[in-house]
Formats: sequence, C-alpha cells, structure tokens
Amino acid sequence: MVLAIVQSLFADNVRLLKSEASKTAYQGMGIAVATVIIATSLVCFVDTGTLSIEGLWRAQKHNIALWILNCMPFVFGVWGQYSNSMIAHHAGAMIIDQTHELRTKTDDLEKQTAYVSTHDRLTDLPTRALFYDRVERAINATISTDKPPRSLSILLIEIENYKDIYEALGRNSSDLILKQISTRLQGVSLERDDIAKIDSSVFSVLLSAQSDVGRAEEFAKQIQKTMGVPFKVDGLQVAIHSDVGIVHFPEHGKDVDTLVQRAGVALRIAQKAIKGYATYEPSFDKQTPLRLTLISELKHAIERDGLELFYQPQVSIRTAEICGVEALLRWNHPVHGFISPDEFVPMAERNRMIRALTQWVLRRAFRDCANWHKQGLPFKVSVNLLAKDLHDPELPDLISGVAVSAGIKPDWIILEITEGSVMSDPDRALEVIKRLFEMGFQFSIDDFGTGYSSLAYLKKLPLAEIKIDKAFVMDVLNSENDAAIVKATINLGHNLGLLVTAEGVESKEVMSKLREYGCDVAQGYFFSKPVSVQDFNQWVSDAHWKIAG
Ligand code: C2E
Ligand code: CA
Ligand code: CA
Repeated sequence: MVLAIVQSLFADNVRLLKSEASKTAYQGMGIAVATVIIATSLVCFVDTGTLSIEGLWRAQKHNIALWILNCMPFVFGVWGQYSNSMIAHHAGAMIIDQTHELRTKTDDLEKQTAYVSTHDRLTDLPTRALFYDRVERAINATISTDKPPRSLSILLIEIENYKDIYEALGRNSSDLILKQISTRLQGVSLERDDIAKIDSSVFSVLLSAQSDVGRAEEFAKQIQKTMGVPFKVDGLQVAIHSDVGIVHFPEHGKDVDTLVQRAGVALRIAQKAIKGYATYEPSFDKQTPLRLTLISELKHAIERDGLELFYQPQVSIRTAEICGVEALLRWNHPVHGFISPDEFVPMAERNRMIRALTQWVLRRAFRDCANWHKQGLPFKVSVNLLAKDLHDPELPDLISGVAVSAGIKPDWIILEITEGSVMSDPDRALEVIKRLFEMGFQFSIDDFGTGYSSLAYLKKLPLAEIKIDKAFVMDVLNSENDAAIVKATINLGHNLGLLVTAEGVESKEVMSKLREYGCDVAQGYFFSKPVSVQDFNQWVSDAHWKIAG
C-alpha cells in the first residue's frame, strides 16, 4: 500500500519534470523562430532598403547565417524530445532503485509492526494473540496426522500478589520483577515450549506434543520452586505468590478458547491449593462460584467457633509410644460438610483472615495441650504456621500470650513451618522464628523435600525436627528414588542433630522400613486418621496405637 502511494508520487513528479522539459523546448523553439524572422527581416532591410516578400525570400535563399539560424527551432525540438526521454530513463532507473530500497524498508517496517503487536514490550514474550495462534497450530498439527491426537498441555501462571507489589514498589520495580519472572520461566522450560505473557500478571506455557501429561505437573512444581526464591529489586527482597492452572488437550477441550478458559478455572482452584497448582477437573466448574460465597461464611466460622481442631498421633518408632500430636484444622460446614484445610486455609490467607484463624488454632491447641498434661499425658502438640504468620512481627507476643493464659510451657509446643514459608521472606521470618525460639518454642520443618531446600538456611534455623513429606514416605516400598530420599533425609536430620518424623505412614511394612532406616517418629493413617479431641482421647485410652509395635 505504502509502496503503491510512493510509486504514484514518483510517476507524478516524473510527469511534471517531463512537461517542464517540453515547455522549455517549446519556448526555445518559439524564441528560435522569432530570431529567424527578425534576422531575415534585418538582412532583407539592409540588402534592399525595404521589407518585401521577395526581399525576404532572397535573404533566406542567399544568406548562409540564416540557414544555420533556421535549424535552431529543430534543434530545440529535438533537444526537448531528447530531454524528455533522458528524464524518463533516469527517472525509471531511480524509481527502480528507490522502489527496491523502499520495499526493503517497508518490509522491515511491516515486520517490526507485526512483532510489536504480537510481543510484550517489556519481556519480549509473545502476547495473547500469538499464543492462541500457536496453540491452534499445535492442535492442528497433532490432529492432521492419522495417528491418535497427541497430548498438549497449557499452563496458566498468575502472579497473585502482583497488584500489591505494583502498589508498593511502583511501575519500574514491578516491571523489573516481571522481567525476572519471564527469565526464570524460560530457564525452567525446554526449547520447544512456547512461553507467552497473556495479561499484565499472567503468563502461559504451551508444552509441546512430545511432552507427556506428567511433565505438566512436574513443570508446575518447578515453576513454584523457582518462583519461591525471592526476587531482588532496588536492594529489596520481594516474595511473589504464583499459582498454576493446568489443562491437557484433548481431554479438557478441543479448541484454544475452551482450553484457556478451563486453565483459568484450574487457576482459581490452584489459588486455594497449598501446593499452588491444579489440573482442571470438570467438577471445578461447579466449585468456583460456590467457593466465592464461602469466604464470608469462613469469617463467621472463625468468629463463632464453627471450626474444629482434629488431632493425629505421632508415635516413637523405637518405643512405640505416643510422643506427640499434630493439630489439624477442620471446617464442618453446615451445608457442604467437611471442607479440607487445603482449600480454606489459603482462602483465609488471601482474605486477610490468617491472624484470626491462627489465633483460634493456637487457643484451642494450647487449651487441649494443657488438659492432656493435667491428665498425665505429656504430649507435644504440633501446630502448623503459614508464611503470613512468620511475616507477622506480633506473632511471638500473640503466641506467648496464649501460652500463658492456657497455662502451658513453650517446650510443649512444636511450631511446624515449611521451607517455602521461610524462604519467601527469609529475613522477616528468621526474626520471628528467633524470638519464638528464645521464648522456648520448638520448630519443625514440615513437608521436607518438597520445597526450596537451602542447607545454608536450614542451618540458620533453630530447628528441633524435620518432617519428611508424605509423598516420599507413602511410596518408600515401591520407589527406589523415594526410598533414597527418605534414607538421605533421615541421615541429614541426624547429622544436624534433629529428630526425624515421617508422615503418611499407612502400613506396617512402611513402619518396618522406617525403623530399618533409623527414623525416629511416625505419623499416619496406620495409627490413626486425624480425629476430634474426644475421639482422640478415646483412642488413647483404648490404646489401639500399641499395634504399632
Ligand atoms: P500437613 O501439615 O502436611 O498435614 C498432614 C496432612 O496429611 C493432613 O492433611 C493429614 O490428614 C494428612 N495425612 C496424615 N497421615 C496421612 C496418611 O497416612 N495418608 C495420607 N494420605 N494423608 C495423611 P489435612 O488435615 O487435610 O491437612 C492438609 C494441610 O492443611 C496440612 O498439611 C497443613 O498444611 C494445612 N493445615 C491443616 N491444619 C492447619 C492449621 O491449623 N493451620 C495451618 N496454617 N495449616 C493447616
Ligand atoms: Ca504439618
Ligand atoms: Ca506435612
């Protein structure tokens, strides 16, 4: 288009030049003809003393100078024609040159415009339109072959606290964080994966047809791991909270719109999941609106004792005695029944209800702990804390206040923290942990092996215990890898002088294996599921747990 306009402008200019040349030639011809007439008249007048047709004719016939002069109009005519054709020739060559140059420039410009409109200015990643296009192509490529369609996966990654970061740090610093996020995502991905930025704080990844379904979950785990390391901007350490929603083609949708919409549904569910990622399931569609109404009900439940604290025993592998209990929250909803803490704890976290929730758990757990000690049952009670708790500078005073009013000693309590909750803001978390440790509370690293393990930090923490994540323990008999991890964790814990607890112990065989590895404490369905305080007390008095031996 641009090219056509420029070409027509060129043609107009050439036409103008040519007509100028013709005009000059015609003027020259006119002057030459006038000169011939005047010169002939002069010669005639000089020769005959008068002007007559015969005298003029004679002058023309005999005067050689007039003959030469007679040629002038023709010379001007020929010159005009010659100029015209020369202008046309040069202009033609010029147009060809300029057109070529212009075409190259226009092509570059068009490419540049296309790139800018399909790539994010900041991260240089493809934008939504290009991502959709690539997904469509990938879908077409997998179904165009005769073989059954191969699996593709789409992951949506949302930076949950981006708005807070933006408000706190401003545009430049939050832009820098987005850039770092993009770099980390590219670090996790393989060359053939397509990464895009489809919204201000949402990234997407298309895992190629070669990938198997399990890789998407693995990828999500790696994303959580890499995003768990604080970002550095302007000398500050910034923690981000990301969630990942996963869908697979063709199971969850046959076109890009359906797939991305369902990845969004999975993302909403992932926000409530402790692990921070979720793969789409059709039942999620029903859950999403329901869960929205739960937020206000949860607030009521916290305020009006609508929650319950369940307990699960922890058994010493050496002596087969109960050495502790873990307090696990339950919400028995009047309509929806028991809702998992995996769902409502993150919901409370996002809606600034964590302080109230933690306070409720501490009061209840410390009160029950005091009762057991009064009854001569010296159990240690483990209470779970979140990253948000560890970032709350008032937590140490709150905990010590609740302990005093319940009449318990700090060393009866173990506070369970995760690697992730410490690493999301290590300096603040360490400060709170150290103060509580100085008061006499003990700490345990929960879900060990699943988070961002930094031995350097582990050494800095005043720990009493490591809890091996149940994912490894449950598969210890079937997976050599998991067995190696469990063994190595037990050794690591002992080398650091810590007690090692294995959670998720579901069978006698796993118990024997753990005993063989030298593990200290076991917790799991093999002994008891988490139960209400009444059921737990009954279980203790029935001494069912003695089957552990
Ligand atoms: P967690 O701290 O890792 O708790 C252990 C989870 O494993 C519990 O799930 C428990 O019921 C389950 N479990 C125990 N033994 C077995 C077993 O043998 N097999 C299997 N398959 N599972 C077993 P639960 O109670 O659903 O809690 C889930 C998570 O919710 C907890 O994981 C913890 O992170 C969080 N949570 C629970 N209560 C609280 C709380 O009071 N405060 C906070 N901040 N988080 C809590
Ligand atoms: Ca725990
Ligand atoms: Ca755990």
